[in-house]
Amino acid sequence: MDPKKIHKSKARCPKCKSKNITLTEIAEHTITWRQIDGYINMDEGHNEPGNIVGFYGQCDNPACKYSWKFRCLQVTNLIVQ
Ligand SMILES: [Zn+2]
Repeated sequence: MDPKKIHKSKARCPKCKSKNITLTEIAEHTITWRQIDGYINMDEGHNEPGNIVGFYGQCDNPACKYSWKFRCLQVTNLIVQ
């Protein structure tokens, strides 16, 4: 593990206060193709990452398993500066 990639998070399970959580960002993801003269080249889709539309937590404590939606929108908002 690269220590520069490990950051302290302020997130805790709202129910049991566990610091072991699965974090999921849901984002729009756009793929665009150009149809030319009636033909589509499936290999030439253009990928565009989109806006984050939701950010969810699930407690990893087996006795809890609580799920919730964060008020903030992305994982970087949880990092303690
Ligand atoms: Zn919990």
